[in-house]
Amino acid sequence: MNTLKESPFDKYQVLAVKHIVASQAVNEGEGVLVHRSFPTRQIDQLDPFLLLDEMGPTNFKPHLAKGFPDHPHKGFETVTYMLAGAMRHRDSVGNQGFLQPGDVQWMTAGRGIVHSEMPDPRFAAAGGLMHGFQLWVNLPSKDKLVAPRYQDLPAAAVPTARSVDGLTSVKIIAGESLGVAAPIETHTKITYLHFTLQPGATFAQPMPSTYNTMAYIIKGEAVFAGKRAGAGQLVIFERLPAPDENPAVPSAIAFGAEIEATEPLELLLIGGEPLGEPVARYGPFVMNTREEIIEATREYQEGLLGKISH
Ligand code: MN
Repeated sequence: MNTLKESPFDKYQVLAVKHIVASQAVNEGEGVLVHRSFPTRQIDQLDPFLLLDEMGPTNFKPHLAKGFPDHPHKGFETVTYMLAGAMRHRDSVGNQGFLQPGDVQWMTAGRGIVHSEMPDPRFAAAGGLMHGFQLWVNLPSKDKLVAPRYQDLPAAAVPTARSVDGLTSVKIIAGESLGVAAPIETHTKITYLHFTLQPGATFAQPMPSTYNTMAYIIKGEAVFAGKRAGAGQLVIFERLPAPDENPAVPSAIAFGAEIEATEPLELLLIGGEPLGEPVARYGPFVMNTREEIIEATREYQEGLLGKISH
C-alpha cells in the first residue's frame, strides 16, 4: 500500500532513500544509555554532521540518574534537544543552563570549552524519564576557532507550524518549514525539524538536493517513497552533487504515516550543506588536521580550555 499516492508531490523532485540503518545502543559518560546513529563502524559522519545520539529513553530510579561529567569540546557545535527529564549544564566560561522538555541548547564550542551535562539534582532525586537528542554539527575550517557561544531556546520559543489539513505539526529548531523560520543562527546552512504526523498524514519538506539529509524515527512507522522505517532507525537520503538541473521543480523529502497507525509518527528531519573539508577527529575534538588534534589535546591537558569551578 502506498500511503503517499494521494499527495501533491508531483510539484517536487522527491529525494530517494539511500540507506536505512539501525541506531546502536552504547554507554556514554557515567554510563548513560544512548542510541547512536553515527559515528559507527558503518557510518563515520554525514558531512557536516558528526554524531547523532538519542539519549535514552531511560526511566531512572530515584538517585540513580546519570550524566556526562566535565569534558572538553573543540572545533564544532553540540545541539541538545530535550524531550523528557531535566539536565543541568555548566561550563568553564561560567555559563549555567537548565534544560527541560522541548528546550534546545545550540552550543558552539569553537576554539574550546569544558562543560558538564548532568541530570538536574531535583530530577535525579525523584527519578523519572530522561529522553533527548544530541547532534554534533561540524564548523567550517574558517570558524573552528570562534569564541564559544550559546543559543538557548526554551520550549516556548521554538517556532511551530501546522499543515493546512491539520495532520502534520513541526517544531522548527533550525532552518525553515511551512514558511516559519527558526531564530537559531548557524555557521552553514542547516535544517533541523521535529515532525509529528497523525495517522494518514503525508508531508513534503522542501530540501536542497545538495544537502546531506537524514531522518531519525522517534516513534511510530514512517513511509518514504515506498520504503519503511521504524523507531530507532536512521534514514539517509540520496543527494545530488550539483544544484538541481531544473530549479523550477524543487527537491523535497516526502514522508507519511500509515492510515492504520495507532499512534502519531514522530521523526527528526535534519539536513545540511556538506563542508567538503578534511576531518580529523579524536573524541571531543574535531579539527581539519592531525596536528590540530594534537594541539587541542595538549591545550586540554594543560588546562587551557578552562575548568569548571565546582
Ligand atoms: Mn558535551
